[in-house]
Amino acid sequence: MNKELYDVIIVGGGVAGYGAAVYASRFRLKTLILAKEVGGLIITTHIVENYPGYSSLTGLELANHLKEHAEYLGVKTEEEEVVDVKRTNNYFEVVCASGKKYQSKTIFLGTGTIRRKLNVPGEQEFYGKGVSYCATCLPPTEMVMTNNEAKHISSIDYDERVLTIDGTYERVIGTMSRDYNGQLIEVKTGMFTEPTLLTPEHPVLRVRIKKGTGSNYWRFSYSEPEWVQTKELNVKDLVLYPVIKETFDREEIKISDVLDVPIKNGFAHNKRETYTSRKMPNSILVDKNFLRLVGYYLSEGCITSRGVNWYFPKKEKSYINDVNKSLEASFGLSPTNKDEGNVTRIMVFTKILRDLFQKMFGKYAHNKQLPHWMMLLPQDKQIEIIRGLWRGDGCTTTGAFTLVTNSKIMAYQVRDLLLRQGIIPQISRRPKEILNRKYSFGDRKILFKHDKYHIVVGGSYLKRMSEV
Ligand SMILES: Cc1cc2nc3c(=O)[nH]c(=O)nc-3n(C[C@H](O)[C@H](O)[C@H](O)COP(=O)(O)OP(=O)(O)OC[C@H]3O[C@@H](n4cnc5c(N)ncnc54)[C@H](O)[C@@H]3O)c2cc1C
Repeated sequence: MNKELYDVIIVGGGVAGYGAAVYASRFRLKTLILAKEVGGLIITTHIVENYPGYSSLTGLELANHLKEHAEYLGVKTEEEEVVDVKRTNNYFEVVCASGKKYQSKTIFLGTGTIRRKLNVPGEQEFYGKGVSYCATCLPPTEMVMTNNEAKHISSIDYDERVLTIDGTYERVIGTMSRDYNGQLIEVKTGMFTEPTLLTPEHPVLRVRIKKGTGSNYWRFSYSEPEWVQTKELNVKDLVLYPVIKETFDREEIKISDVLDVPIKNGFAHNKRETYTSRKMPNSILVDKNFLRLVGYYLSEGCITSRGVNWYFPKKEKSYINDVNKSLEASFGLSPTNKDEGNVTRIMVFTKILRDLFQKMFGKYAHNKQLPHWMMLLPQDKQIEIIRGLWRGDGCTTTGAFTLVTNSKIMAYQVRDLLLRQGIIPQISRRPKEILNRKYSFGDRKILFKHDKYHIVVGGSYLKRMSEV
């Protein structure tokens, strides 16, 4: 037994162990590091470029710096494998494979993680020279929800924020890719019918349903959520999808934050003014009127060369009045209404409003979307967007509320808005190739240029959806 008594023994000589050693010694604690291998996992890395203070160095160089820093502060390192830690009356006794024993008042375990090996020929030989371990990969075309759009994982940019498992958006700080030609598993759920392709080891959060027996046959119970590898999933398992948790309210937005326009006395003006140009108040209240109007625009609105139009069946008087009133309340505009057959067209001829709506919500039906900040608004405000949308593009069928859109991103955004309201919608895609085979109008074929997305709310969510 080594008679010396330490304040702290750190088991592990990786960055975690040496980080702890630096702090322990600064508190004047008598510290010893016991490590099987000085430097730990980082020594298998040939280049490290994200360590503050060093633009680029090898893993081995970093390991040497760690050890030198600790020695400078008086921390000793012993190359030992620890096989046991025992609690004696007053201290911990650390037992090493060499037979040596050490005593300490405190133990810090910084032993890192071990990767599970495949045990295939060449794995050991080529480790660090092309063979690496990464279980959490998606194929390049899998979709990820970002703050800008739903996009392929391969085109994610630095600085974008992505929706993460706990419902918060996190900034992307780096990306990695690797060649892969192994098996991929297609996971298709009953509610989100577009499949997701995952590597067999990719973690998924799963809940199991347990059916009752006998007279309790229909009494389901659910297991606690657990992380499993995709290959361990079974038919009838439930997989979890994050609900956006972040809430960020906005009382108002400024036109000048979206458009490059001159502001005079609180009003946004056109860059080139003519005698018909209209100015608009620079501040827009993000209130219920405005948000419903946004919903109406996403479903029934269209950008013209001179302004914005909304189209409604003539009989939908209450929606027509609502759009007129909201335009007046939010922007001080008096729209022109024109009946054309069975349709009423609501028109505003304001270039600034046109540019604002085009920039914030997209121009064509297939690229309409909500700006990210609207996805984070409080739920009672978001209800107004859903209302406007459904009044325009929605319909009720037997036992279901259905919304149809050809904007993929909007379909996903509506799903996420509904999830925040406690409603799980079913979302499915109708590919344009199939639609083009199916639909014609008399002799005339209808040409679909984009896929259609159906968002359907039914079953136990009907009541909540009716309230919305
Ligand atoms: C190929 C590769 C490239 C990487 N590149 C980077 C990079 O560029 N930048 C970056 O920031 N990170 C990188 N990492 C990650 C980084 O290496 C780890 O995050 C980091 O090393 C973890 O440090 P740690 O101290 O927690 O554990 P480890 O580094 O694993 O250290 C564990 C320590 O505990 C010791 N130990 C374990 N069991 C015992 C025992 N029974 N007795 C005594 N000692 C024991 C080990 O010998 C080792 O010293 C990379 C990892 C790999 C595999």
